[in-house]
Amino acid sequence: MNPAIRIEIDADGIAILTIDVPGTAVNVITPGFQQDLAAAVERIATDAGVRGVIITSAKRDFMAGADLKDLVTAYDRGVGAVEAAGFSASINRIYRRLETCGKPVAAAINGLALGGGLELALACHYRVLADTPKAVVGLPEVKVGLVPGAGGTQRLPRLIGIAQALPLMLEGRQVKPADALKLGIVHEIAPTQELIGRARAWLASAPEPSAPWDRKGFKVPGGAGMQNPALAQTFMVGSAMVARETWHNYPAPAAILSAVYEGSQLPFERALAVESKYFGKLLAGPVARNLMRTLFVNKGLADGLVRRPEGVPRSRVARLGVLGAGMMGAGIAHVSAEAGIDVVLLDTTVAAAEKGKDYSRKLLAKGVERGRLTQQEADAMLARVQPTADYARLDGYDLVIEAVFESREIKADVTARAETVIPRTAVFASNTSTLPISGLARASRRPTQFIGIHFFSPVDKMPLVEVIVGKLTTPETLARALDYVAQLRKTPIVVNDSRGFFTSRIFGTYVAEGQAMLAEGVAPALIENAARMAGLPVGPLAVSDEVTIDLQWSITRQAEADLGPRFTRPVNYDVMQRMVELGRLGRRQGSGFYDYPAGAPKRLWAGLAQQWPVAASQPAVQDLVDRFLYVQALESVRCLEEGVITHPADADLGSVLGVGYPAWTGGVLSFIETVGLREFVARSERLARLYGPRFRPTRRLREQARDGRRFHQLPGAGAAA
Ligand code: NAD
Repeated sequence: MNPAIRIEIDADGIAILTIDVPGTAVNVITPGFQQDLAAAVERIATDAGVRGVIITSAKRDFMAGADLKDLVTAYDRGVGAVEAAGFSASINRIYRRLETCGKPVAAAINGLALGGGLELALACHYRVLADTPKAVVGLPEVKVGLVPGAGGTQRLPRLIGIAQALPLMLEGRQVKPADALKLGIVHEIAPTQELIGRARAWLASAPEPSAPWDRKGFKVPGGAGMQNPALAQTFMVGSAMVARETWHNYPAPAAILSAVYEGSQLPFERALAVESKYFGKLLAGPVARNLMRTLFVNKGLADGLVRRPEGVPRSRVARLGVLGAGMMGAGIAHVSAEAGIDVVLLDTTVAAAEKGKDYSRKLLAKGVERGRLTQQEADAMLARVQPTADYARLDGYDLVIEAVFESREIKADVTARAETVIPRTAVFASNTSTLPISGLARASRRPTQFIGIHFFSPVDKMPLVEVIVGKLTTPETLARALDYVAQLRKTPIVVNDSRGFFTSRIFGTYVAEGQAMLAEGVAPALIENAARMAGLPVGPLAVSDEVTIDLQWSITRQAEADLGPRFTRPVNYDVMQRMVELGRLGRRQGSGFYDYPAGAPKRLWAGLAQQWPVAASQPAVQDLVDRFLYVQALESVRCLEEGVITHPADADLGSVLGVGYPAWTGGVLSFIETVGLREFVARSERLARLYGPRFRPTRRLREQARDGRRFHQLPGAGAAA
């Protein structure tokens, strides 16, 4: 195989090390890279002919950091904290050898440098960064549940001061070239083609071949430890903020604080060992595995259309019809126009359709204002949305998505009308959030080309699309729907038809659980706070108000009417009914579980105590936290067993990206693996005894736990479930 690093030594004794990791589009730290870098560093250190070194990359980016595909398996392979610390220690040794090799080293950073990529540059003595918008730098490890493990927690604070370095690492922020220069992360920015020349110029200036922290009398800018009162404040406030943001569910931010606090007071080699220790602890724990597996590995596979049926040629939607220009239709039209698709946006009147287009107008104006796009680009996007009330405009359209009122009759009517105009080959999709797709397909003349494409609100912000396969939907129709989602750069999951599909089903169990607690006499503020402690973004009562209680009630009544004797009342049936009777329907209607006083923040409705008196004795908070997480996980297990979900990764992605199930869990099924299947089953049985049969684990889950089979495939093992 080609080496990951090419070495050229010119007549002036300047060694140019060009990183070009084979087989990847971006340079990442692989075992091969480490080996080649170690060898290259030895060579430049020992070759007396080498006077200076320039490190750059042959690819568009400089380097993106560690290869997560390698790291994600560590936890499941049972790698312990000490062994995991070794991963960090080995790369730290190589970077440190480079830093102390005795020759001046410059990094010519020709593009993005993140994580281990920026850390390599930080181990060089001089950094010149390409002055292009794509050449961002940063230490984003916190986003995958890790601390920077290649010296970042020690070099960045010593370079720019602790107070500046901490927020960059705690938020995993990406810094643009001009800001990187201002912060002092790089010494210079320059046009890409001048980078090597600038690096050479620095080398020609007879620079000191060492890092500032290896020189006598070095002090961390702004101080370290508790010497400086402002810094003491930074650590105290920082710890409090981390606790408030994470509820201790995410261990990485606290570990970053500790690594910086401890490391910045130690000699450099010991400081690196402290960093490796924290890195190892995190890599050997489940949260980093969960974040990497769901949000990077499985999201990447879903974005690459891993569920797309094979053998169907790739398609591209050029023209899209959207029926219904309300909240969802307007959003779908907007994101499609942004993706370069011509959209006919149809409503009952041109005025209603125009109102839908106004939504794009507003969003695009904001985009221009914020410098995200030019006026010209915004104008072009807006011109792609054509409002109408005339079905004839759909003639020749490849794909139609309906987002009209949630009524079977209206949906059937618009389906029939559109199908008289659109080509025989066109795909017709429904954005319904609750009505089974196979039932809606009965109104279609071509039910094999009928599918659910379920967006989330607000469409322009939410990354997930749930694609629902009806009984008669063909693989070709599914492939075309997925191609469209990929065009929008959103993440698709594929589920089979069921009432509420997957995401609405689990979301329904969450809000129902919160409302059931209210009826049990749990204090409303405790309910909301317990959900936040679990890591859910919005409490169940607040989110009920957002989606409106009358919508939840009408969905429940629809199910009751459709299912007849097979209907079972959800645990929040009486609470919903009472709220509807009281006319407290949600935020849009001005009151719900909360009051919405004009000009003041919302507050829980004081009248809740009359309706559902608060019990004298309150349950343990952990029980409430568990109920929120377990009830959704158990519903997901049922979805898997019923075939609604066919791949565990889809359940994980759908729950985190679609309905806000906490990312630290990795999603509903990863949560079960995080608790441990046996422990999860035992605890569910306990919750079932205390709170009702909805917590009872299924027979298959109990068997799976007994046999020790997981949901996700382990490296080199077969999949379960
Ligand atoms: P909405 O009330 O904001 O918009 C519905 C639009 O459909 C209105 O503009 C209305 O004039 C139009 N319409 C009604 N009958 C029509 C007809 N015969 N022909 C053409 N246009 C017609 O509703 P919404 O929130 O945008 O929801 C639309 C659909 O999307 C529903 O099926 C809903 O279940 C689904 N959905 C909603 C959400 C959400 O969060 N609101 C999320 C996912 C899916």
